[in-house]
Amino acid sequence: MKSEELFAEAKNLLPGGVSSPVRAIKPYPFYVKSAKGAVLETVDGEKLVDCCLGYGPLLLGHQNETVKKAAANQLEKGWLFGTPTELELDLAKRIAGDHPSIDMVRFVSTGTEATMAAIRLARGFTGKTDIVKIEGGFHGAHDAVLIAAGSGATTHETPDSAGVPNDVASHTMQIPYNDCEALEEVLSKNKNTAALIIEPVLGNIGPIRPKKNYLKDVREITKAHDVLLIFDEVITGYRLGIGGAQVKYGVKPDITTLGKIAGGGFPIGVFGASREIMNNISPAGAVYNAGTFNANPLTMAAGIAVNKYLHENEKLYTKTEDNVKRIAESIPSQASGAFVFEGSMFKFFFRNEAPQNYREAKECNTEAFTKFFRKALASGVFIPPSQFETNFLSFAHEKEEVDKICKVYETCL
Ligand SMILES: *Cc1c(COP(=O)(O)O)cnc(C)c1O
Repeated sequence: MKSEELFAEAKNLLPGGVSSPVRAIKPYPFYVKSAKGAVLETVDGEKLVDCCLGYGPLLLGHQNETVKKAAANQLEKGWLFGTPTELELDLAKRIAGDHPSIDMVRFVSTGTEATMAAIRLARGFTGKTDIVKIEGGFHGAHDAVLIAAGSGATTHETPDSAGVPNDVASHTMQIPYNDCEALEEVLSKNKNTAALIIEPVLGNIGPIRPKKNYLKDVREITKAHDVLLIFDEVITGYRLGIGGAQVKYGVKPDITTLGKIAGGGFPIGVFGASREIMNNISPAGAVYNAGTFNANPLTMAAGIAVNKYLHENEKLYTKTEDNVKRIAESIPSQASGAFVFEGSMFKFFFRNEAPQNYREAKECNTEAFTKFFRKALASGVFIPPSQFETNFLSFAHEKEEVDKICKVYETCL
């Protein structure tokens, strides 16, 4: 197996043999040669139906022709100028038009940068220091959000990674998802809170869906305490429809972060808000943000293309959700676990009931998950290799691929 040989070499060149931890599939990851539509082709000649889709960005599947043409066209003109381009105005207008909470944006290169900047912006704007996040919520790999799941609502937390100073972690508090009382309590006790950062639908241990009115209540509680609400829509943005969770659930956050789909599969992060808030960003204001690759023309061209495509093909959201429903129906009634979906995000949890928060998600039987993952892979379907990662469908999954996925759920659970 060529993948096995490549991984043996990789272990001497890359820590753990990979460039991002979740890719370290045991005993060795498969190496991909190319991908088209909903199918990955490995260096070992296997064809796999892709339900990982780059961990979310590829809503249109691999090599969507519209996006590919736009990127290729931009390559002919150049891919980095270090000056403004018309492209960033076009994409900014589109993103602002799609999101009720956004008048202005700053383009960065990753979701991690977007949440880092959004938190700094919230602190700069409010003059307050602390932030609240949701247990199990993932906002990228920077210090303020790499926080261990702690003991409850009112404690200041400890780091979840070596190398994060305790005093940095002590400015972040965590509360369970779907729990308004915990939010009320933490904000009542900590008057120095600048913002709550939340994935409106938990994507990185989920999907875990908001209880009825939860997001509306979160909006009211944060407003009452004069705390900014940051919706991290890096996964849900353009995934749950144009306008993401804020449009779907009718809740207007103060700051929004986007990434993944917004760049059509090229590296992107975006944060946006009202003019009043965004004008605090440098050079208009005193909150510093900069980046060599900010608003890079290749990503802007791909982002515009994906945006146009979504507006012209909005009905494909329904088609894709219908395909997820078919997967749900394929699950044998005696399978012990809960299938949860939200739009084209889905997951079979090896736990009797759908989890409502991180602690419940942690109760899943991860050994059973790993067995299922291996069987699915051997049957030609690649789902993310962790019980705690959302599975995705793309617009490019056609009947043939969906049939194959259904077969896996029917036979491997
Ligand atoms: C993926 C993700 C991020 C981080 O984005 P990167 O581009 O990987 O840095 C942040 N927030 C959420 C909700 C994500 O899913």
